[in-house]
Formats: sequence, structure tokens, C-alpha cells
Amino acid sequence: MQVLCLGNGDAFSRDRYSTSFVVEAEGARLLVDCPHPIRKMLAEADPALDLGHLDALLLTHLHGDHASGVEGWAFAHHFGLGRRGVLLAHPEVAGPLWGQHLQVTMQDLLGADGAKPPMTFADYFDLRPLDEAAPVTVGPFTVQVRRTRHHIPTFAFRVHAAGVTLGYSADTAWDPALFAWLSEGADLVIHETNLGPAHTPYAALLALPAAAQARMRVVAWPDGLDVFSGPIRPLVPGERVPVG
Ligand SMILES: [Zn+2]
Repeated sequence: MQVLCLGNGDAFSRDRYSTSFVVEAEGARLLVDCPHPIRKMLAEADPALDLGHLDALLLTHLHGDHASGVEGWAFAHHFGLGRRGVLLAHPEVAGPLWGQHLQVTMQDLLGADGAKPPMTFADYFDLRPLDEAAPVTVGPFTVQVRRTRHHIPTFAFRVHAAGVTLGYSADTAWDPALFAWLSEGADLVIHETNLGPAHTPYAALLALPAAAQARMRVVAWPDGLDVFSGPIRPLVPGERVPVG
């Protein structure tokens, strides 16, 4: 398993794409979060990659810096790839994704003979609901989720494939229990750090044991925070990081 970073910024970044990455294992690819412009992010990280090379999208929550590209991702599947996009999301993420987010722009399509019947969520998305009580498998990936402390429903995950495990905090306030869950058996943990009560202070990550920091990559830090000289390596676009 390896991780290809597409972006490491936050919602306010001036010169970085929002945080997103691709998990690759056994010839399959799982996109984690989908900010705009996702196709450009993919092409800049690896010119050989396009949306058709991705097997599924795992969406942690609906903040724009994680989900602003979902409309384009789904339209590209419908019009360009001729198939539905496989979406892994908790019901508390997938539910409002349509009714409170995409329906207004994706329901109505104009055909050559005029308006078509309204499109539905199921016309665009092949949903695989994530469940805190049970792992969900898609291709070689087995995904477990855990709710984080954030403004809106948000889910961290552990993904297992090819004999190794990756943990991702998604957006969260510092939560030692969540970190313990992420670290449990994980070969690599990707963790956010940012400002405010709904994010993890960098100081909390700096206080972790060196062994934990060595198995960690940091993402989504605010502009101006120098993570490059700290003990926890940042995830950098275009870099493929082996897991395990
Ligand atoms: Zn968020």
C-alpha cells in the first residue's frame, strides 16, 4: 500500500490545494476526499492519473475543502465515464450530500428534446455506507470508521489492504482516544493540524512520543505554520509514501 498526496492545505490556503490523497494497493485506488479541482490535482500529482483510474471515493465530511469537487467527480462519471461513482460515506455524510448540497445543481439535466426527468442520488452514486459498527470492504480495501469531534458529522478511518493499515484523522479536535484508535495496528497515521476548537493543535502532535511521530504524516496545517522543520513529516503533493 502507498499514499499519493494530492493536496495538503486547509480551507483558507493561499497557495496549496486542499487536503486529499489517493490510497493505492493491489492495483486499486481509493480517493480520500474530493476538493475542487480534483482532476487538476490528480494530473499534477501524477500526469498518468485521471478520475477513471480511481475505484472509489471515501468522503470524510462535507466541508468544502473536502467535498467541493464531488459535483465535478460525479458529473465526470455520468457524462465522461458512463458509470456511477462508487462512494464510501457514512449515512450522516451521504444523506445531506444530496438533499442539502448537490440536488440543486445535479437534479435537472437538459436533453436534446428538453428537460429530462429529475435525476436522483442513485443515478450518480453507487453508495457503500460506512458503519461505525462494522468494516466495509471495496476491492482490496477494508474500511473502519470512527466519528471525530468536528463542527459537522465527520469520520476518521482505518483502511487495511495488502497486509498493512493506514489511519486518517480527517478533521478533528484533538482526541487522544481517537488517536489511540487510529494508531492501533496502523503502519502509518495521517493527522490533521489546524487552529480553533474543531481542529488539532500542532502542540498536541508535538507532545506525542517520538515513535508515534515517526509513523505519522501531518496535513491541513494553516499557512504560515512551519511543519517542515518539525519532527513530524508533512505529506507533500506528488510524493508516494509507502505504508508499512
Ligand atoms: Zn472540516
